[in-house]
Amino acid sequence: MNLHRREFLRTLAGGAVAPGLSRVGFAETTPAVQKLTDKLTLITGAGNNIVAFKSDEGSLLVDCGDAAHARDVLELTGKVQRVFNTHWHLESTGANDAMAEAGAKLAASVNTELWMTQEIRHDWEKKIFPPRAKEALPTETFYTTGKTSVGGEAVEYGLMLDAHTDGDIYVHFTQSNVLAVGDVVQAGRFPVLDFPTGGWIGGMQEAHRTLLRIAGDTTKIVPATGPVLTKAEVQANLDVLTKIREQLVKLMKQGMGAQNMMDAKAMKDFEGQLAGDPNVFLFTAYRGLWAHVRELGGIV
Ligand SMILES: [Zn+2]
Repeated sequence: MNLHRREFLRTLAGGAVAPGLSRVGFAETTPAVQKLTDKLTLITGAGNNIVAFKSDEGSLLVDCGDAAHARDVLELTGKVQRVFNTHWHLESTGANDAMAEAGAKLAASVNTELWMTQEIRHDWEKKIFPPRAKEALPTETFYTTGKTSVGGEAVEYGLMLDAHTDGDIYVHFTQSNVLAVGDVVQAGRFPVLDFPTGGWIGGMQEAHRTLLRIAGDTTKIVPATGPVLTKAEVQANLDVLTKIREQLVKLMKQGMGAQNMMDAKAMKDFEGQLAGDPNVFLFTAYRGLWAHVRELGGIV
């Protein structure tokens, strides 16, 4: 769908569009490249951000963008030896099929691989994601953490459970001091918490804490969307998430449901500083909180 068509549908719907919808379908954009270090580049405009490490053995990518831009990305990267999927979303993994066909190995957490074999429903954006083709499925999977190397660079990766989804990973290029973090950090906007596949705000906070332990003050932290972040910016985002969670739990303890929170404009203190639709956020965040109600110390 092109931008005009989406604008048209948004007008028809007479309300704000779900955050997921605003981030797909940019087939008309041309991918652009930004240098991170001598060996690492950031590719934007191909779905979610792609981090590419170039070596004589072929490039190693963290995420590979959406299906519409697979060819453009392969032109930019040359031979790809391996792709890490940070999570199952199509903006990050849509190009998996094309990457595998071009000879790349696909690596992801076990949870991400499992979601790619399932039909997934996002009722807040009225979308159904069918299971992926066999060729698009990761063949190198892991449960917790792992290490590898490419072109003399040590690469460490690990799962951040139940954050944006239940399969999110970081990939750390340790010598280059670059940390790719996928969608667990969504600075400056109401985060998408994909509760049908295990996302919730407490896990997202925990993922921030994990990243803050790994990152140094000069680490370049690359999220799935938006600009490169510093450790201080990730800390600031965690502080916002913590305040939001406190507000949500307080209102749940008053007996409010998601609709009550929307009616009460429960996110009004954050609307000035965060982009995105607060109502979609409340709908998804609330469902995730209920799934973890014991960790909140109970509600009633
Ligand atoms: Zn995502």
